[in-house]
Amino acid sequence: MANTNLANAKTAKNDEFYTQYADIQKEINAYLDYNPDVFRDKTVLLPCDDPEWSNFTKFFAQNFQLFGLKKLISTSYAPESKKYKMPYQPTLFETSQPHFNADKTKTNGKMNVRLFDKPTMRKVYQQQTDKAKAEGISNCPYCAIGHDANRQRIWKLEEMDADHVTAWSKGGETTIDNCQMLCKTHNRAKGNR
Ligand SMILES: [Zn+2]
Repeated sequence: MANTNLANAKTAKNDEFYTQYADIQKEINAYLDYNPDVFRDKTVLLPCDDPEWSNFTKFFAQNFQLFGLKKLISTSYAPESKKYKMPYQPTLFETSQPHFNADKTKTNGKMNVRLFDKPTMRKVYQQQTDKAKAEGISNCPYCAIGHDANRQRIWKLEEMDADHVTAWSKGGETTIDNCQMLCKTHNRAKGNR
């Protein structure tokens, strides 16, 4: 395994608490270059103390369909869910994050759903597409303001991905009001920012 590379990446970025998303992406791409089906029908187990802030969890959740994963299990530490009680002190890093919720952390662990469900995606897709067709522009808002051939392109649902209008990392909720559908290219470009 190439865990050493990830460990190096982690220590190199000592200004950040967790392994960087881009480093994970780089590392995983090396596996995919070698075998594009390396994750197909596999279960990925991530023993995180804190999946909500784990870039690994985020990375595999976002690429779940692309990689053809069967299951993604991300562990969390939720003190109240345990039979035994012990003092629990969240780190400053954790409490200063926009998504930190003192009650939820104790009862549910820290996993916060950040993937939109299918009905939400379909509903947003329909609204955007109806509006775009009426206006003669692309149903991807980023394509619509572009200058290339895709400016008026109507993408199919399966050609688009759901995006948080206000980034999840900035406190954006996974609700229909904060959901927009983007073509896969623009969604990927936005996700890498
Ligand atoms: Zn687009």
